Amino acid sequence: MDLKNRRALVTGASSGIGAATVQALREAGAQVAAAARRTDRLDGDLNLTLDVTDEASIRTAVDAAAADFGGLDLVVNAAGIMPLGPVAGADTTIWRRCLDTNLLGMMLVTHAALPHLTGDARDIVNISSIGGRETYPGAAVYHATKFGLYGFSDALRKELAPSGVRVSVVEPGYTDTELFTSIGDPERQAALAGVMATQRNLAGADVAAAILHIVSRPPHVLVNNVQIRPSIQA
Ligand code: NDP
Repeated sequence: MDLKNRRALVTGASSGIGAATVQALREAGAQVAAAARRTDRLDGDLNLTLDVTDEASIRTAVDAAAADFGGLDLVVNAAGIMPLGPVAGADTTIWRRCLDTNLLGMMLVTHAALPHLTGDARDIVNISSIGGRETYPGAAVYHATKFGLYGFSDALRKELAPSGVRVSVVEPGYTDTELFTSIGDPERQAALAGVMATQRNLAGADVAAAILHIVSRPPHVLVNNVQIRPSIQA
């Protein structure tokens, strides 16, 4: 299905997977509102300040995108962080920030966008992770957000199916982005950087290509879930 003139909103658009998605969608002819806190790094047709931990900021950004484009056809929820560390003794303010960003932020952006999804082809694509299916010690809170994202998205897919809005989840593996700077724990950050340095990881553009595949299917086809990983990743 042609992406020309599809009206898209992409969160997490200042970096990594979100930034690559903005670029890929624009190259395919879509009109793209790019949203994040670091607006100087945005490259959309429309660039919007968005803090997904702030509901007022979400509503302002989503409404602005819809007003400028005359509605929305596509939302990609890519904003996320990955603080890691053991549960015992953790600073729980970091748990709240992680849940607010990765889970509640995605839910509130989706809620704010739904009334604006007015086109013939309408998609919500939520970026989870292989960590939304498999768990590793030291990442319990990140997993909680990504398992939660999957549960919300899959139930919403069923809820919205009769209305023609498609909901899809993309679950990437190791992708070369800035996500690893949000880990917080220096030892874990160094360990993961070590793993990533020894292998060929995905690029943001590889994940963006999967997103474009999903949203360009004809209306009778719903790709509800895509897992994508470096071929070296077990
Ligand atoms: P990056 O760190 O490169 O990008 C994260 C993006 O999220 C940035 O644009 C950042 O923008 C935005 N963001 C973070 N916090 C907020 C906030 N409070 N409000 C608005 N935007 C925010 O990481 P990735 O591109 O890798 O991450 C994108 C998604 O992909 C995340 O959900 C991540 O969990 C997921 N993922 C990534 C993998 C990887 O290996 N990289 C693997 C699996 C999943 P700004 O700071 O400007 O606001």
